[in-house]
Formats: sequence, structure tokens, C-alpha cells
Amino acid sequence: MSEKERLFLSDLARVTGSILQAYVICRRQAWLMSRNISGNQYNEFIAIGRLFSDETYKRDKKEIMIGGSKIDVIRQKDGIITLIETKKSSRMIEASQMQLLLYLYNFSKKGRAIKGEIRVPKEKKVIPVELTDDRIVEVENLISEIKCMLQKESAPTKEWIKFCKTCSYLEFCWS
Ligand code: SF4
Repeated sequence: MSEKERLFLSDLARVTGSILQAYVICRRQAWLMSRNISGNQYNEFIAIGRLFSDETYKRDKKEIMIGGSKIDVIRQKDGIITLIETKKSSRMIEASQMQLLLYLYNFSKKGRAIKGEIRVPKEKKVIPVELTDDRIVEVENLISEIKCMLQKESAPTKEWIKFCKTCSYLEFCWS
């Protein structure tokens, strides 16, 4: 294997929050994202998501980058840090929870007391996310699975799922 190929593969091995979230929804989507293949950036659902992210919790908004991913809000109280992610709906809540768990996992390695919260203001929902021992195993297994999938030379085959109709790769996959 050439040095160039080795570097390319080690770069792919970095599982970001966005790739993990995509993987939980659709493996093909995660693979395409990892190759920087862009979907339709003007997809109206992405635009709504951006608008929502810009307008919500403006007052105490403080974004930071963790492992190449943006966290919406961080609060610190009594020595405990809370990572807060805001979502426009709970439609993809399982994927959002796993993404947040990855951030908590990465943070926990630094020995900080930390917890997570997903907020869906339009549905008036606040969902606590906790990194328990079982969740740690789940995150670690998921990271290994994703790394394996990302090393593959071709994208997983497409399968129509309910998320396709709002996916930015809709045209890429289905036209
Ligand atoms: S359009 Fe469907 S199959 Fe294609 S990447 Fe998106 S969710 Fe996956």
C-alpha cells in the first residue's frame, strides 16, 4: 500500500459525529459523506435545519468543535458540563442520540463530568442522554463497524428508506 493510500485510509478512519449520525440512518449516506461527495446543498430540509439552528437558543448559543463536529450549546454548572443539541424534530432521534453519545464519549476520555441533552423546541421535548457503561460499549462497537465500512472501496448499495425523500443524496441515488 502506498503512503498516499495509507494516509487516505487513516483519514477515513476518523469517525465524526456527522458520519456516525448518517450511518445510523443510512450506511450509504455515511460512505458518501466520508468521500466528500456533496448532496444537494439546496435541499429545502437542509435549509430549514440551518435556519432552525441559526434561530434557536440564540441568547445562550455557544458553539464549539469536538472531533470535527459542531456542538450547539454547552453549559457548565456545579462542575458538570452539559452538551446540548437542538433538533427541528424528533424524527431522527435515535441517530441524534448516538451522535451526542459519541461527543460524550470523546469528552469523557478527558476525564470530565459530562452529560447530554437533546432539545426539540417545536415539540417541547428535552431528552437527557447519558453515557452509561452499556452505552460506551455500544458507541465503541459502532465506531469499529463504521471504520470497517468506510474502508470499503465502493458505497453500500442503495435501499429506499423513509429518510430518502428528505436526504440530500436523493437525486444522486435515485435519478
Ligand atoms: S437517498 Fe436514501 S439510499 Fe441514498 S444516501 Fe440518502 S438515505 Fe441513503
